[in-house]
Amino acid sequence: MASQDWKVSLHGGHSGEFCEHATSTLREVLEAAVAFGYHTFGVSEHAPRSQERFLYPAERAKGYTIERLHREFEAYAGAVDTLAAEFEGKVIVLRGLEAEVVPSDGYRDEMLAWRKRFEFDYMVGSVHYVDEISVDGVKAEFDAGVARAGGLEPYAVRYYDTVAAMVEALRPDVVGHLDLIRKNADPGAALDTPPIREAAQRALAVIKQHDCILDLNTAGYRKGLGSPYPAPWLVRLADEMRIGFCFGDDSHGPAQVGEGLEQGHEYLLNNGVSEIRVLTREAGAVVKKGVRLKSDSAGNPEVR
Ligand SMILES: [Zn+2]
Ligand SMILES: [Zn+2]
Repeated sequence: MASQDWKVSLHGGHSGEFCEHATSTLREVLEAAVAFGYHTFGVSEHAPRSQERFLYPAERAKGYTIERLHREFEAYAGAVDTLAAEFEGKVIVLRGLEAEVVPSDGYRDEMLAWRKRFEFDYMVGSVHYVDEISVDGVKAEFDAGVARAGGLEPYAVRYYDTVAAMVEALRPDVVGHLDLIRKNADPGAALDTPPIREAAQRALAVIKQHDCILDLNTAGYRKGLGSPYPAPWLVRLADEMRIGFCFGDDSHGPAQVGEGLEQGHEYLLNNGVSEIRVLTREAGAVVKKGVRLKSDSAGNPEVR
């Protein structure tokens, strides 16, 4: 597949080398990015968590420790530097990290320190926890979070408030999977009630204020949600506020690289978004720019 300038993912590129729940090596993931025809491929490996209580059940089962998470992330930072240079001319690789919001009282300093230490090209800010309880992990934990918040509506409000606080704290370049709460919610659950919409709108106002790009995250298809993150009402609301989107395949292995991108392209056009906002590298510097989407999903030049 030929490289097309709208083929940009700013969220994904996780690999089994550096992430327990991903597969293959970073090199294999980048080879898949070249094969897919990505113009720019942002690698945003998970920043390590700093406390044992945040280890995932699968990590615990394999004997992972906080020290190991740190060691692997440090190795990742070195590897992505080397590989970004090596893949030059084939695909533009951006070196990034996906930040966490735990621990609540310390994540800001931790995440900013990781970013600074390795001089990453960019940061994806994601909310995987509400009040330190996992949003997208095992369903039982999500349910416990909902119960603690006093129901789904207050939980969702709290989630979007956490997104707003994260954006204020980290000033990420990209905000990951804006409505991740859909993943573990019961199918058909009302996640767009007036109080939830107001909270989402407050978060979007902060996102707009700090000029962040929203992740059009195609993992939503993979998770059986029928659409990417975020849902159509959020896409339209963000677009009305003139907040830009960029694709994120949220790949956790070569097979997922580019997955859902054509569909996501169609989805944006169907929701009235005809231009994306990308990060890429030009003359050695990371730049932010607008890229027109093509009017037909085959990616052929627009017919006027
Ligand atoms: Zn992951
Ligand atoms: Zn994520």
